Amino acid sequence: MGSWDFIDDPDYDGPPIPHRIVCKSGWEGCQGSHEKLWQVKECFEAKARGAFVCGDIIWVWTEDGKVTGRCPRPRYLTDRGSECTGGHEYIDQQVRISEGWEYAEDEGEARNLAMAGVEPRTSDGKIWPA
Ligand SMILES: [Zn+2]
Ligand SMILES: [Zn+2]
Repeated sequence: MGSWDFIDDPDYDGPPIPHRIVCKSGWEGCQGSHEKLWQVKECFEAKARGAFVCGDIIWVWTEDGKVTGRCPRPRYLTDRGSECTGGHEYIDQQVRISEGWEYAEDEGEARNLAMAGVEPRTSDGKIWPA
C-alpha cells in the first residue's frame, strides 16, 4: 500500500516506478498495476473466473498510522457463500439459519442472539468470545 503514496505524490515526475508491474487483466478490482507477480496472476484469474471485489473492512498501515480500508482482493462464490483470496469468508443466510448461527456486529447484538438461542459469531465466522 505504501508505494501508492509515492505515485500519488504530485511533485513526482520521474520515470515509471520499476517495482510496479503493469496489469492488463481488465478485472473490475484491478488498480492498473501490482507490486508482485503473484498479484498480477491473481488478478487475471479473478477476471477469468468472474470474481468480485472482496470489500471487507481491513486495517491498513500508512504514514498516518493504522486506518481502515477495504480488502481489494478477489472474492469467489463457494457452495456455502463466498470467500476472498485473503481468507475473508462470508456464509449465506440460508446456511447460517440451517446451522443455527448468525453474524453479530457488536457485543450487544451477540448477547441478543445468544438470548434468542442463536449462536453469535464474528465477521470472520468465529464463535463470539463470551
Ligand atoms: Zn491487476
Ligand atoms: Zn478480503
